[in-house]
Amino acid sequence: MECIFCSIASKKMKSTVVHETERFIVISDISPQAPNHLLVLPKEHFETVLECKDRDLLGEMLEVAAAAAKKIGVAERGFRIIINTNDEGGQTVFHLHLHLLAGRPLHGKMG
Ligand code: AMP
Ligand code: ZN
Repeated sequence: MECIFCSIASKKMKSTVVHETERFIVISDISPQAPNHLLVLPKEHFETVLECKDRDLLGEMLEVAAAAAKKIGVAERGFRIIINTNDEGGQTVFHLHLHLLAGRPLHGKMG
């Protein structure tokens, strides 16, 4: 079975697309943990951040997240970026992605 985020990136599977660039797609998380919860997915498949040696892509992933935060109007108030990695990091979908959380105070514990 194909990776779920590869299916979303190739539009074979439906999702709510908030922003898109040549190498990334930004979607709404299906199970939001904050009023604004976006996922920034590279269109290319990497299982985790550990497999990705492409510095340009990793840098661009942060740029895309910042652009998405501006686009949805949360940049000034603030937001949190998370990359869960492997089991204890809480990763459940093994296609590299960044979480962008915003819309409520995120001052609590990190985990
Ligand atoms: P992680 O636990 O860091 O691997 O994050 C995976 C995230 O993907 C979770 O927050 C899920 O709610 C989200 N997710 C899983 N399936 C979908 C989907 N089809 N569309 C949007 N978000 C999804
Ligand atoms: Zn994938």
